[in-house]
Amino acid sequence: MDNKESEDFNFAEALLVKNTEIFSNCKNIVVGKGNLNAPIMFIGESPGRNEDEQGLPFVGAAGKNLDKLLDKVGLSMNDVYIANILKCRPPENRDPLDEEIKAHTPWLLKQVEEINPKVICSLGNYATKFFLAGTDVKNMKNQPGITSVHGKVRIIELHGKKVKLIPLFHPAAIIYNRSLLGEWEKDIEIVKKEIEQKSLF
Ligand code: URA
Repeated sequence: MDNKESEDFNFAEALLVKNTEIFSNCKNIVVGKGNLNAPIMFIGESPGRNEDEQGLPFVGAAGKNLDKLLDKVGLSMNDVYIANILKCRPPENRDPLDEEIKAHTPWLLKQVEEINPKVICSLGNYATKFFLAGTDVKNMKNQPGITSVHGKVRIIELHGKKVKLIPLFHPAAIIYNRSLLGEWEKDIEIVKKEIEQKSLF
């Protein structure tokens, strides 16, 4: 059953999402999946066709690759929570628009506040630039791209709390460019080390 009309989505952040055109054109709102008490959040860009059909993030080709990559380092869905910058699929999987990012990320930030992860892994350029810009969408274009910041740990502040941001290549990019696989594997080891540390900062 599609979830667009769910009674659960009547809070202010969800209403902002419902006011965007991509909400009218999608089948499902893709909220997230995984463990709500996870120490790591992975944040991608936007749902694709499969995600829209199923109402879950990362269930298509990129998701299968993400599962494989996590499995290799002994992480499962129980260790992570996964969400996206956008809650609805843009038509033809086009890039997110600034106004969509502005309207959809308050819900994402509410999820971050509730889950309270130690580490946020931003997957690809959009999620990375959003957090590097201090969640200020108009400042995203001034941020460095994923190629220069992947695997670099930095401390950011969200809702007055410190959290470690570790940008990673998007799992879809790794499908098309296998030479990124080695980089991803090195980067995810850095993530694991950060999680295992007792004191965070
Ligand atoms: N790519 C993303 O960024 N998110 C998804 O949920 C699926 C593919």
